[in-house]
Amino acid sequence: MPVYTSEALILRTYKLGEADRIVVFLTRDRGKKRGVAKGARRPKSRYMGALEPMTRAGVAYYEREMRDLVRLNYVEPQRSPLSAIGLSGGASLLGHVGYFAELIDEWAPEAHADERLYRLGSAVIDALAAGAPIERLARYFEYWILRLQGVYPALVVCPGCGGALEGGAVMPPREHMFLCQRCARPTHGTALGRTALAFLRAAARTAPERMDTLELDDRASRDLETAHRRLLNTHLEKELKSVRVLREMGR
Ligand SMILES: [Zn+2]
Repeated sequence: MPVYTSEALILRTYKLGEADRIVVFLTRDRGKKRGVAKGARRPKSRYMGALEPMTRAGVAYYEREMRDLVRLNYVEPQRSPLSAIGLSGGASLLGHVGYFAELIDEWAPEAHADERLYRLGSAVIDALAAGAPIERLARYFEYWILRLQGVYPALVVCPGCGGALEGGAVMPPREHMFLCQRCARPTHGTALGRTALAFLRAAARTAPERMDTLELDDRASRDLETAHRRLLNTHLEKELKSVRVLREMGR
């Protein structure tokens, strides 16, 4: 049985049998895997603290013929957002960690590498650990995960009239494009102002490692959140569990 070693992002775990866990993780070089962590639920397990969502870790695993589940050999955590949560102590932060992990899990291809998605997830872990403002980080992440899937609407030209999207844009109800304010009825749909558009354009040119240079105010963040939720729900054909958790928290 060949042993593979890789850097990986832990996405989620669930219980298996009496004492084990199944771990879903995104490897840098071979895509998403599901592996059995033997004894992970025992009190002094060597996996203790290593399997939290959005932990970046060195992993080793065996692949077994004719089986989808790999067998984990070790998980050595390198960086975990739990350190950041300890500092600023927010339920919202913890909720967002679950949100990022669930989005990557939904979109990571099984067993074939997606280097750009891996890099995005890994940069989010670094930004969390550095204490980046969580709303700005979430909007950046949503923009890029939609863009990597090729489903982010055009931001430069209005598909209605071919004019430039400058002062603002509107996503009409039940449509997933940004129209200029002349083509859309501004009272209908999800409106993005100048600041939100400027953020998106800057995000498009900014590598994940540099996302701390982006500016975003509360109003623009809320507008983008609404637009991104609509896009995500449409393309995933459901609402994520972690999004419901975040909404409950906001109340
Ligand atoms: Zn137009």
